[in-house]
Amino acid sequence: MGERLGQVRLCCVQLHGCGASAGRLEARAKPGRARRLLPRERSGLPISVSDIASRCIAHLDLDAFYVSVELARRPELRGLPVVVAGRSPRAVVTTASYEARRFGIFSATPAAQARRLCPEAVFVEPDFPAYRDRSRDVMAIVGEEIDRVETVGLDEAYLDLSDLERPATAARRLKATVRERTGLVCSIGIGPNKLVAKVASDAEKPDGFVVLSAPEARRRFGGEPPGLLPGIGPKTAARLASLGIDTLDRLAAAPEADLSGWFGPRLGRGIGRLARFEDDRALELARTAKSESRETTFHTDFRGVPALLPALEELGRELCERLRAQGRAGRTVGIKVRLDDFSTHTRARTLREATNDAVVVGSVAGELLRRFDPPRPVRLLGVKVAGLDASVGARTQPGRGRSDQLTLGELG
Ligand SMILES: [Mg+2]
Repeated sequence: MGERLGQVRLCCVQLHGCGASAGRLEARAKPGRARRLLPRERSGLPISVSDIASRCIAHLDLDAFYVSVELARRPELRGLPVVVAGRSPRAVVTTASYEARRFGIFSATPAAQARRLCPEAVFVEPDFPAYRDRSRDVMAIVGEEIDRVETVGLDEAYLDLSDLERPATAARRLKATVRERTGLVCSIGIGPNKLVAKVASDAEKPDGFVVLSAPEARRRFGGEPPGLLPGIGPKTAARLASLGIDTLDRLAAAPEADLSGWFGPRLGRGIGRLARFEDDRALELARTAKSESRETTFHTDFRGVPALLPALEELGRELCERLRAQGRAGRTVGIKVRLDDFSTHTRARTLREATNDAVVVGSVAGELLRRFDPPRPVRLLGVKVAGLDASVGARTQPGRGRSDQLTLGELG
């Protein structure tokens, strides 16, 4: 079974914030506090970031992280096009060095295509345990300097600098410390919210350091396409372009009524606010998973439900083992199926009771798969249990399982 399950096994964890732990984090005493700048006083001291009102958020993003870890232990590769990618025929590039990017090789470029684009590139297989170790090193340094941190994946974090008297100075010092102690280079963006910080950190990579207020961000990026912003995906960007809204300036100026009419009130209003760089999302200081999933990409496509069921059951077993180890259970069981035309389909069902029982998960997932009955060969299969813990005692509609269709789109 292990062999049949193919080469890409991903553990996807969806996260949401847990506000309760914020106080604990704030109260924690940190080493290195003596080096930290004093909290900003309320007496009107000048601050170095204009227009931040009450919040100052930094986004720290390690540059070409996986490649940088490889270069740190193999310095002879410095200056060469280096690509971190698996060996299997369907592997995709996880990270490319900046030299390799000049050949058109980026994250998610198929590895085979990358080899064609730059045959002389050095291909390195990913070493995730090493990347996790280095990530922990970096985040530990960040944690020594900054109390309120939201880590995102291995190579990114949002930092709340609101209480620092001179946030930009503190961030520059942190950047230098990370480089000095780990050899890793990061880019940092600073702004009044997560959105500005994120876009600013991306603006001058690698080794970037960009501080912007929201109006400055609007001026600087106003001529860029809306797809520049995280939160505006390719579909939305294409729809906007077809409506003649091809810059952030145009999107920011679009009447909310029009946007709501085109995209629905929630998304319509949301993208308008994004374009104006308005964002009041809080940092998610301690993160707890609300769903767990397992998925696998097959070496060769599988056709028909009977051929897929063993893999589905195996994924369900692994997933439930993990949930039981965590002492967690969830009410929503879902499947994800990617067909050979790369279309991705999800189905889910919400149960009366939370479960982490492999037999229950396997049978619900199997039923969902049979009902979906993949019309084409399948390249990827996944199983998910969602609504973990929190929903166990909070049933909004006791005894009423929602239909498959209503929960479409919750997965994946
Ligand atoms: Mg990065």
